[in-house]
Amino acid sequence: MREPIVVGNWKMNKNPDASVQLVQELQAFIGTNGLKTQVGVAPTSLSLVKVSEILSNSPIKLCAQNCHYEDDGAFTGEISATMLQEIGCNYVILGHSERRQYFHETDEVVNQKVKKVLEAGLNVIMCVGETLEEREQDITNQVVERQVKKGLKGISASDMDRVVIAYEPVWAIGTGKTATPQQAEDVHRFIREIVTSLYSVDVANRLRIQYGGSVKSANAKELFSMENIDGGLIGGASLKAEEFYKILCSF
Ligand code: PEP
Repeated sequence: MREPIVVGNWKMNKNPDASVQLVQELQAFIGTNGLKTQVGVAPTSLSLVKVSEILSNSPIKLCAQNCHYEDDGAFTGEISATMLQEIGCNYVILGHSERRQYFHETDEVVNQKVKKVLEAGLNVIMCVGETLEEREQDITNQVVERQVKKGLKGISASDMDRVVIAYEPVWAIGTGKTATPQQAEDVHRFIREIVTSLYSVDVANRLRIQYGGSVKSANAKELFSMENIDGGLIGGASLKAEEFYKILCSF
């Protein structure tokens, strides 16, 4: 049995005070209610320390949206995995399509980052997904296979227990267009097959694969009911505590 994982990716939203407020509102909704899913929030780098203080005794996992692939050095504007580890981060989102698109992150760079984050003892959420053009050209599987294989190059089977893959079709991110549960399930199943071929059936069966792309409370239940969908990476809908909480309750 895989424990589902739902993470709110706040992107470049919410100043530090507003981040604290949002996480406190979320904590109030969750209260002592037992959830069937692991929960995480990914504020901006600037808000991580403040939010970390609030979450010190909380089951909510602290996630970063990115990091650099070196430990330290002359990389103006960057932060490292060891820095994130020191302030209590649990997960780092890597290879998000916005980073691939706007910051030109290649599969090789994503792979270097994955290695660094695992080396720092943290968990990884590695994002993969095709663009609309690629889906229309019918090369979704090829694109996803390349991203998964290159992103995981050199990662050991034992470290795979600290890797989550998020399947996020680029055409569904922030567009209001969601992949149908079956479209998502097909790619999730395919990702599990790739991981089986790279590692083993055991590793693949333990791997949690999140879906991301315009998930909201109105469509979460249907998506999460699919056999190979083990949670969600939620953008826009994670910025409202009540809506995010409803998504968490969809398991
Ligand atoms: C995301 O950024 O990872 C995402 C899935 O965004 P949205 O839910 O807004 O589509």
